[in-house]
Amino acid sequence: MSRTRIGILGYGNLGKGVELALRQSDDMELAAVFTRRDPADVSIATPGVPVRREAELEQGAGDDIDVLILCGGSATDLPTQTPKWAARCNVVDSFDTHAAIPRHFAAVDAAAKEAGTVALISCGWDPGLFSLNRLYATCILPEGTDYTFWGKGVSQGHSDAIRRIEGVADARQYTIPAPEALDRARAGENPQLTTRQMHTRECWVVLEEGADADEVRRQIVEMPNYFEPYDTTVNFITQQELDRDHADLPHGGFVLRSGATASGKGHVIEYALKLESNPEFTASVLVAYARAVARMAAEGQSGCRTVFDVAPAYLSPQSGDYLRAHML
Ligand code: NDP
Repeated sequence: MSRTRIGILGYGNLGKGVELALRQSDDMELAAVFTRRDPADVSIATPGVPVRREAELEQGAGDDIDVLILCGGSATDLPTQTPKWAARCNVVDSFDTHAAIPRHFAAVDAAAKEAGTVALISCGWDPGLFSLNRLYATCILPEGTDYTFWGKGVSQGHSDAIRRIEGVADARQYTIPAPEALDRARAGENPQLTTRQMHTRECWVVLEEGADADEVRRQIVEMPNYFEPYDTTVNFITQQELDRDHADLPHGGFVLRSGATASGKGHVIEYALKLESNPEFTASVLVAYARAVARMAAEGQSGCRTVFDVAPAYLSPQSGDYLRAHML
């Protein structure tokens, strides 16, 4: 059987993670990496695979690719790249700006339907696997309360926000679930929790020479939306210490729903992830869903999809017979 040919667009953390995940998927192969940078400046880990300019996709460089996995950023790359390339090939993206997903879906759906392609958006773990677990849990326990706790993990958005403060040379921010809130949710107490009660934020900051530490700390803890609604601790360290102790991108979290059936008996559903590398894990999810996209496209489907629309068996390289015999 021929292998599914995968293209990667955007070679950052996620792009590198997709390349790694494909090494563990015998039914798929990396056909090409596309980038907006000069390909001569982008050195990839897989020998023999071409690195091409994104613009070459317009000239048909991706026409022999079954699924293009879009690995650009959600803030500015994916809102234009996903509809643009869904008009040319089957795509998967990890768009994670939750509030903008309906608008992104509409733009991508129009492009994919017109072109007859399948486009899966907002794949990964949140949105993605966490979304699926929230959906399953609310369907099973219609009367109950949902909780999503993130961390302990690096938030790149919050780390970037600190780096933009004058006097800051570098920074890492960890989001940490509050243990007491997590315990109460797990115990089925159905607590009403505020933002401040659910998570704390821990910052590790490298100052530029001569910067005012107290002023930097004040600007961090008072930053609206990002830090003001949380209890935030700020630690100052050297660049060497940051590089040594905070280079990785761990993440994870918990999705819980506690509720009661009609007799009044209580039930708690919990799904947990503990990830040593957020991008490597997210990329592994994207690759499994790329397999599903290739199958849906082969069936003649078209349009935009999310994880809610994909039957679980489509993610597996195994046959239905195998799954029924070994995994049910
Ligand atoms: P990066 O910042 O590492 O990469 C984003 C893009 O930056 C790359 O695709 C690359 O595109 C470009 N880039 C420009 N210069 C460089 C350079 N020197 N080195 C590396 N890349 C460069 O972002 P991530 O890969 O970490 O994350 C991408 C998105 O994934 C995030 O914005 C987030 O929205 C999403 N995400 C979603 C998750 C989910 O669960 N749904 C979980 C984690 C992340 P090019 O090659 O074209 O220059």
